[in-house]
Amino acid sequence: MCALRSLPPRAMAAAFDYLVLGGGSGGLASARRAAELGARVAVVEHQRLGGTCVNVGCVPKKVMWNTAVHFEFIHDHADYGFETPDVKFNWRVIKEKRDAYVSRLNGIYQNNLNKAHIETIHGHAAFTSDPEPTVEVSGKKYTAPHILIATGGRPSVPHDSEIPGASLGITSDGFFELEELPRRSVVVGAGYIAVEIAGILSTLGSKTSLLIRHDKVLRTFDSMISANCTQELENAGIDFWKHSLVKSVTKSPLGLLEVTVISSAPGHKPTVSTIPDVDCLLWAIGRDPNTEGLNLDKLGLKLDAKGHIVVDEFQNTSRKGIYAVGDVCGKALLTPVAIAAGRKLAHRLFEGKQDSKLDYSNIPTVVFSHPPIGTVGLTEV
Ligand SMILES: Cc1cc2nc3c(=O)[nH]c(=O)nc-3n(C[C@H](O)[C@H](O)[C@H](O)COP(=O)(O)OP(=O)(O)OC[C@H]3O[C@@H](n4cnc5c(N)ncnc54)[C@H](O)[C@@H]3O)c2cc1C
Repeated sequence: MCALRSLPPRAMAAAFDYLVLGGGSGGLASARRAAELGARVAVVEHQRLGGTCVNVGCVPKKVMWNTAVHFEFIHDHADYGFETPDVKFNWRVIKEKRDAYVSRLNGIYQNNLNKAHIETIHGHAAFTSDPEPTVEVSGKKYTAPHILIATGGRPSVPHDSEIPGASLGITSDGFFELEELPRRSVVVGAGYIAVEIAGILSTLGSKTSLLIRHDKVLRTFDSMISANCTQELENAGIDFWKHSLVKSVTKSPLGLLEVTVISSAPGHKPTVSTIPDVDCLLWAIGRDPNTEGLNLDKLGLKLDAKGHIVVDEFQNTSRKGIYAVGDVCGKALLTPVAIAAGRKLAHRLFEGKQDSKLDYSNIPTVVFSHPPIGTVGLTEV
């Protein structure tokens, strides 16, 4: 006991070559590649392995998009000569099957780590104030000459002090917990997540309103894509609230929400209206980086105004030996980007490939709207 106390903190901490914080797309890809290259690796994860993409992102989203596409086809069956007797849709069936599929993937990710002899540390990682960068998880300390922060992000929700009742709404995370198809949905946001979820809800039969601040969705995409996607959503029967913001949200004794909206189209006086009897208000207004709770102030890491970790083109942070990849850096929030950046970094650190870095230009992206959109390259002016 006494001998242990006299050791410096670095010697007391379990040591690896590479300590990866976050078992999502970027962290797992980098960890596995590093292990293949001979490094002793540990991954710290405080939720389910696979991160956003597997648990509350791309994977369950695509299952739901596929469900919606089935429904669209069924509508057209009769015109193609198929007789489809009264079709009934049961949300619970697909939810159960989707959850089971995601659980299987969680297991596969754990097996992959085990096979690669990567230690999985379950718990919340936070840096300590030890002189050498050290991470504490459930009271135990870990260190490594190379530490990767791949802690991703989470959906943004307005604070109740900004929009009273905002916390009565859910986010994309909550969408995957819904036990029933909502009868009346309001989706707030104009990005791809808002477009995709509004499309799924509407196609499957929820009366869906989409609230956007301007007059089009996907405003960072080519104007042709943005205009066509907005038109397609309107054609599909989505009730658009353009130039609109949520003012407040209240809950009735029956548990339904009333969403009060301010609309102010250019050249018109602002109007205040309400959307009653809403059983699903969903915020899809952006994502915040998971940098809080990591004690990054103990490292003095440089963050941008939104809390993203600032990295150079090689994923180096402002502190030597600490790197960051994926959504936590706030650039091109996509799974293949996090994976590729993580793998490139592993080659640089453990294979001596000094120039190994991800080229962030010309990243293709897909929006799972109805019809889906695929785009790559420079946008037109
Ligand atoms: C609804 C939705 C749909 C999407 N669809 C697509 C798509 O179709 N295509 C696509 O390419 N991308 C899609 N994305 C984006 C994609 O999911 C992310 O870009 C990707 O998951 C980022 O990977 P990451 O490794 O940076 O973070 P994540 O995958 O989020 O992994 C971070 C991990 O770190 C863990 N963590 C955080 N803090 C700590 C801590 N202190 N200690 C321990 N663990 C911690 C988290 O629990 C998480 O598991 C979608 C996202 C959403 C929300």
